[in-house]
Amino acid sequence: MLRIALQSKGRLNEDCLALLKEIGVNIDDSKRKFLAKASNFPVEVLFLRDDDIPQVVSCGTASLGIVGLNEVVEKDCGVEVVERLGFGGCSISLAIPKSEQYEGLQWFEGKRIATSYPNILRGFLEKNGIAAKIEVITGSVEIAPAAGIADAIFDIVSSGGTLVANGLKEVEKVFESEAVLISSGNLSDDDKAVLDEILFRIASVKVSRRKKYLLMNLPESAIDEAARILPAMRSPTMMPLAASGWYSMHSVVDEDELWSKIRQLKAIGAESILGENVDKLIP
Ligand code: ATP
Ligand code: MG
Repeated sequence: MLRIALQSKGRLNEDCLALLKEIGVNIDDSKRKFLAKASNFPVEVLFLRDDDIPQVVSCGTASLGIVGLNEVVEKDCGVEVVERLGFGGCSISLAIPKSEQYEGLQWFEGKRIATSYPNILRGFLEKNGIAAKIEVITGSVEIAPAAGIADAIFDIVSSGGTLVANGLKEVEKVFESEAVLISSGNLSDDDKAVLDEILFRIASVKVSRRKKYLLMNLPESAIDEAARILPAMRSPTMMPLAASGWYSMHSVVDEDELWSKIRQLKAIGAESILGENVDKLIP
């Protein structure tokens, strides 16, 4: 049974459970247990605070974990990042009081910076040759300047609303994070086989997220041109309609190209175009 550590509550919890569901791993999370087994896959989930996930994976208590890349880099405990998952995106940025004039990193020389990410910040300051004092705060970092504890902060920023509410402005984006799948790098053969299956399923979910399934009616004369516009994976499916001279075409298109393709298809006579989300796509 492969054990995977997930955040028990917080910003990543729902997306993690949704991803497991999408790859066909059903976890009954309704009882809010610390450890929950999947009903249909050899996996059990250990629910933890996100801070603890890198270490629990590094020592092998869980073989895999899902956590923000920011926690992985901050904890620096030798886990392997196996896959970026495309949710939980945020940046960790330096922010200063909005009344300050900012002309570059030299502003931070000799200043006090409050953060919950001292390791990432130390690395950044050293790389840039800035000597600043790091004040470690685990709670609400953004109040530190107003409270006189620090001159600036280094913290997670998403919309920026919290900064504005605290009279701060973002001046440097230092680190881009997203949720990642991590491994201890030391899996049994059984766990490796389960991980391979998980990665295979995640890949198909990721591909399908950017695709749309399109079906439409086409006059027979437009078939060749339509197949050129929408080549699909091998070639589009064409099925004759009951009305003679007409076909139903089924194909898959990249979301980015959806509207330009629809325009081209309409121009050659396509009608009743239907677009649907793709749930899984296995090449
Ligand atoms: P825990 O109780 O598990 O320790 P937490 O309060 O430390 O939770 P959350 O606020 O739930 O953490 O955030 C978890 C992760 O979500 C962050 O480490 C980060 O990777 C990601 N994240 C994405 N967007 C944001 C955001 N706007 N603010 C904070 N974290 C975000
Ligand atoms: Mg935490």
